[in-house]
Amino acid sequence: MLRNLSEYLEVDTDKKQLIDSILMPRLESPAFYSKRVISREDIYDFCELDSLPLTKYCPKCHKEYPENENFCYDCLTGLKHISDIIDVRDINIKQEFKVRGSNDFSCFENIFTPENIDKVNSFDFSIRDYKKIQNGIKRAAFKNFDDLVKSNELVLDYLDILDKILLFSKSFVEVDFKSFGPELGLYTFNRIDIDDRQSAALQITTLIHELSHFILKEIIAQILCRILDCSKNSYIEAIATFILVHAPFTRLIDEYSAHTVEGRFTMYGYQDYSSFLEIEQSLEGEMSKEEIEITKSIGNTFAISIKKILESYIDRDLREDIKTQFRMDIMDRPNYEMLMMENCENLTSEGFLKAIWLILTEGFETASMNISKLTEYENCF
Ligand SMILES: [Zn+2]
Ligand SMILES: [Zn+2]
Repeated sequence: MLRNLSEYLEVDTDKKQLIDSILMPRLESPAFYSKRVISREDIYDFCELDSLPLTKYCPKCHKEYPENENFCYDCLTGLKHISDIIDVRDINIKQEFKVRGSNDFSCFENIFTPENIDKVNSFDFSIRDYKKIQNGIKRAAFKNFDDLVKSNELVLDYLDILDKILLFSKSFVEVDFKSFGPELGLYTFNRIDIDDRQSAALQITTLIHELSHFILKEIIAQILCRILDCSKNSYIEAIATFILVHAPFTRLIDEYSAHTVEGRFTMYGYQDYSSFLEIEQSLEGEMSKEEIEITKSIGNTFAISIKKILESYIDRDLREDIKTQFRMDIMDRPNYEMLMMENCENLTSEGFLKAIWLILTEGFETASMNISKLTEYENCF
């Protein structure tokens, strides 16, 4: 079945062009040089150097004031000290990605009925439905982000690039810091744990990697809701989680998708290949080389929509800031050798729908036979 998908492959031109520009650089390729244009603000800041230091800010309009001022007369609001701005690490909100349907299942038995198994197999789902899910996730994340900024009176300009990405990550999931264990980051059950002993640049790309795992779980859960016409709850989340981890096939899709998304926001030559190489090595001949490549192409296709969600915030300016952070933090020479092994193919819409159908039908059926595992997962949400 997996092999049949090969006829739906096409070249992922964005990914290929980026990799080609690194492997075969042209002189003054834009990937290597970026011009910093001096803005009006820079000139203004320069002229202000001699005047009083601006230590306070208006939480409404973000205009800055010297120490002896207490009010913003434009907004009639009390000023705050810039130094008192809340640490992004201490912020937490309840992230909401609600989906409402006609059914709200309260046990697994009510989900795995012959009628529902039939609904999954007949798969009444289109690319339009997929795009709706993608846009819904983006909208919900932006609403969460806006709430975070407003309720904590944050001024984005004061945040460094790591805090900006951390704040954005918190619009999706709970983020906690750890300083133990071999993993740099870990995604489990709508929560990211990140090791803060690593450099800022690596914390940024680790956050993006783990965030991709969350978004893929969210996409799978929302597709299930749509097909079963049900609300999203811990039972559906548990099944989506199971679908992504139960087989080497889906684990590889999940991992390659996260790797590809991370790569989009990392300076080329500093990508981390360990996560999916580990899965590939553990396969021990279970999948043929051709099947592995098609699986990666499915991962690439999911990665395209995840990148679209993330790029709406992590725009060109922020990507430039991430590169600057890399240049400051990383001492090792870039390694371009592994880039040649990248899979730069994705599936056409038709092929992608067939791939999702395959993931769901196999995953849903296997899940129905593993209720104890599902219960374990359900308790974690
Ligand atoms: Zn103001
Ligand atoms: Zn991963």
